[in-house]
Amino acid sequence: MHPITDTYRNLIRELAGFIPPARLLTDELSRLAHGTDASFYRLVPQLVVRVESETDVQQVLHSCARRGLPVTFRAAGTSLSGQAVTDSVLIQLGNGWNGHQLLNDGAAIRLQPGVIGARANSILAPLQRKIGPDPASINACMIGGIAANNASGMCCGTAQNSYNTLLDLRLIFADGTLLDTADPASVSAFRNSHSDLLEQLRQLGEQTRANQPLAERIRHKYRLKNTTGYGINALVDFADPLDILKHLMIGSEGTLAFISAITYRTVPDYPDKAAALIYFPDIHTACTATTLLKETPVSAVELLDRASLRSVQHMPGMPDDLAELPEGATALLVDVRGANDSQLEQNIQHICRALAGVPLLRPLEFTRDPQTYDSYWNVRKGTFPAVGANRVIGTTVIIEDVAFPLERLAEGVLDLQKLLHKHGYHEAILFGHALEGNLHFVFTQSFNEPDEVARYSAFMEELAQLVAVDYGGSLKAEHGTGRNMAPYVELEWGSEAYALMKRIKQLFDPACLLNPDVLISDNPRIHVENLKPLPKAHPVIDNCIECGFCEAVCPSRRLTLSPRQRIVIWRELQRRRQTGASTEALRELEQGWQYQGLDTCALDGLCSTRCPVGINTGDLVRDLRGQQNRDLQRRARWLARRFAGISKAARLALKLASTGRSLLGDKSLSGSMALARKAGLPVGHWRPGLPAAAAALPQQRQFEPPKNSQPADTVIYWPSCMNRVLGPDRNASDQRALYDVVLSLLDKAGYRVLIPDNIHSLCCGMPFQSKGLFEVADGKRNEVLEAARRLAGDQHLAVITDASACNLRMQDCSDERLQFYAAADFIHRHALPQLEIRPADERIALHLTCSTTMGGNSQSLLELARACAREVVTPASVTCCGFGGDRGFQVPELNASALQDLRDEVQGCSAGYSNNRTCEIGLGEHSGLQYQSILYLVDRVSRPLEA
Ligand SMILES: Cc1cc2nc3c(=O)[nH]c(=O)nc-3n(C[C@H](O)[C@H](O)[C@H](O)COP(=O)(O)OP(=O)(O)OC[C@H]3O[C@@H](n4cnc5c(N)ncnc54)[C@H](O)[C@@H]3O)c2cc1C
Ligand code: SF4
Ligand code: SF4
Repeated sequence: MHPITDTYRNLIRELAGFIPPARLLTDELSRLAHGTDASFYRLVPQLVVRVESETDVQQVLHSCARRGLPVTFRAAGTSLSGQAVTDSVLIQLGNGWNGHQLLNDGAAIRLQPGVIGARANSILAPLQRKIGPDPASINACMIGGIAANNASGMCCGTAQNSYNTLLDLRLIFADGTLLDTADPASVSAFRNSHSDLLEQLRQLGEQTRANQPLAERIRHKYRLKNTTGYGINALVDFADPLDILKHLMIGSEGTLAFISAITYRTVPDYPDKAAALIYFPDIHTACTATTLLKETPVSAVELLDRASLRSVQHMPGMPDDLAELPEGATALLVDVRGANDSQLEQNIQHICRALAGVPLLRPLEFTRDPQTYDSYWNVRKGTFPAVGANRVIGTTVIIEDVAFPLERLAEGVLDLQKLLHKHGYHEAILFGHALEGNLHFVFTQSFNEPDEVARYSAFMEELAQLVAVDYGGSLKAEHGTGRNMAPYVELEWGSEAYALMKRIKQLFDPACLLNPDVLISDNPRIHVENLKPLPKAHPVIDNCIECGFCEAVCPSRRLTLSPRQRIVIWRELQRRRQTGASTEALRELEQGWQYQGLDTCALDGLCSTRCPVGINTGDLVRDLRGQQNRDLQRRARWLARRFAGISKAARLALKLASTGRSLLGDKSLSGSMALARKAGLPVGHWRPGLPAAAAALPQQRQFEPPKNSQPADTVIYWPSCMNRVLGPDRNASDQRALYDVVLSLLDKAGYRVLIPDNIHSLCCGMPFQSKGLFEVADGKRNEVLEAARRLAGDQHLAVITDASACNLRMQDCSDERLQFYAAADFIHRHALPQLEIRPADERIALHLTCSTTMGGNSQSLLELARACAREVVTPASVTCCGFGGDRGFQVPELNASALQDLRDEVQGCSAGYSNNRTCEIGLGEHSGLQYQSILYLVDRVSRPLEA
């Protein structure tokens, strides 16, 4: 348990005077969940504050400073070195930090710290530009963290990192002062108010540049990637103290100031690219080749040792020859880009000439084929998750990040391999950005026994000596010093440079309240204290490495918990249960878990699309809900057998609700249902967007195509239960039921359509599956499968339905005669060539449902929409809408939270389209647009092709 002390209670009382309670997270569950980052350190904050503005930051800093309480800033929490955790006050970015501004036609971009790196690149993509820094975590991490860690990746080297592409910063210092270096008035005011600080920086710079050996050492070390300690190259690279100040902020890990905006010079993003996976007989030859490649126009050179290659060689989609490589073989993945085709070809030829004469295990060959190109990169990207997925439960995955001088890379690698074996890390794999001498090595480590902690500690001592002293390399090339390397900064840099760093910290943060013990620490054991427990908790999530990559796509992340946070809490609950914790120690977590963990998960599974080890946290929630619902099995079976009657009753209820609405209005109905819930009745929330009942399905079960049409293929169509019950939006101009629209389209495209006789009792089983009632759910799904099989006989037929979520359930079914499709996907892939489309001159909004994404059909839906309208907007803030089956009725706040930015993003659109009816209810309510199935639009703009 982590009770809040009186000092922090007083702070919370004061902050409550200007920050709403919803943004002051004080319950233990929230503090634990939000306090966790991707490192192997566990500190639980006393308070998590979600800041929404610069004023919030200033006020929180002020209140904490008055009490001498430390603060830590947090962006996406993907840091690995323990720099984003605290046991004091965690200042987390709220929703209001996503702004951007393109400058000079995209030659520069100003970004707020909450913008995800990949989002910045998607804004720049149409201009063929991108931001320089390219950490592998770019789909999850945010600009604040990228700049504060000086994060970098495979292509950016040192030339395009934040330090070298920085133009301006907007900062809030420990004393609350705001400085915007892009604003002359702000600069002038700062030069007056902080003349002493600037003068001291100027002097530090002057002294450092005058100290030849030190200046030389600094320059020498920054040839390599280096994020150990402060970026004191600022002291030798710049004379103006304001430039020194700006550049010191990069890589300062939240220990000097809060970054409220950053302006980057952008870099070209060339579309033409090629790659080669080159195999060398040994590491020496690969490293020699790397030195040769340094002089060529390569965009990335990734080294992979034999152990890394072995870790992925069994995976699907990997190059065939990986498994046949001899022991000791080493690969270089060489990536090359060009502004156009001929430049790309020239670059390839340049590289081939440079490597002529170097012994290779296979002939050198570059590929431009996108599939082969991706398969090469998948080798590289698969290595780290492979270790994560195969580790012993209870161990953590450690990814270290060192750099050797390029000329001694081969020696360094061999010594490193020896050291790893000496300390028993036999499973370690080694890969990295060879051009920068930057190597990542990944191994697994338990921190459950003191002996294991001692083993790690002894390894770290020798590693620091080997890399920093023997080779003059960097102990942290990319990931930041954090707590992990803080004890070794002086060893790497020497006492003179370390004294400079301490002086810098003292100048900006004299009371040492900004992220203490990170980067600079007097505690020589800080790197082996507060280690994170990783107990066995549930087979679905035991492989989780708490990287946080899944967070950005989760619809509940801003309401309650993200997938990672669900896992953190479930693990902690299990740990406490396993160690016999008191009822009191369990109570708070257990109580919060029901709503935050279970009730508000939409079960969409989008988290799995981002997870390097493939975890679908929804599966955990589904399983736990199933355990809670064990008693419902019998009732569920009863309901499943009477599905046709239940659907009929649902339509009747909607008819009654419709009458009720016209008599009472939405408000009274909503109030009556709230009263019923209070009285304990199992009633959901009233949704104003709830449509009237759908018109009843016709009796007809077979529809012949027009006589003259070609090709008269047959399809099976099973209208989903949601569309058999729910009618169109009440205000929509086209009031036909969706099945009418589907039949109209198939008719125009010349298909013969079969509908199962027992359609009224068919359902994919999702309503049962979402409650963890798997047996009943699978039974219902099998009924659909059987109905389709009966209709198909021995023909090979497409089976389509009109709801993407229901189709996703069926996609798992294996029957070589049947191919399951969502109707929109089928129309796009097969029927479109048989239709003449006259696109609407409209700007429309398109919602790519989570089931469409999970089924791999997003591109198909997007292309269909683009074929039918002039402009298609896909709101960047929306992933899954959070309606999730009955969640939209049971916890409508989930839907509201997931769609909170939708209205702004769809400004100027004439209508919204999707392909799942329940999603459309919430989308309509939260956007101010009418949302309908995309098929209504396709039907409106299409007609049969002239024969
Ligand atoms: C699997 C995996 C792969 C990774 N690959 C790479 C890689 O290739 N290259 C690389 O460099 N890193 C990598 N990382 C580490 C990490 O993802 C990056 O360093 C990333 O830039 C951190 O950003 P974040 O948004 O998560 O920041 P956080 O972790 O939230 O914070 C990082 C630091 O910035 C500070 N900070 C955050 N916001 C602000 C602000 N507004 N003002 C001042 N300080 C602030 C924090 O206090 C903290 O010290 C990887 C991590 C994982 C889990
Ligand atoms: S579930 Fe996957 S993506 Fe999410 S934190 Fe765990 S390992 Fe990372
Ligand atoms: S299933 Fe959806 S709501 Fe649940 S944790 Fe995963 S992304 Fe979040």
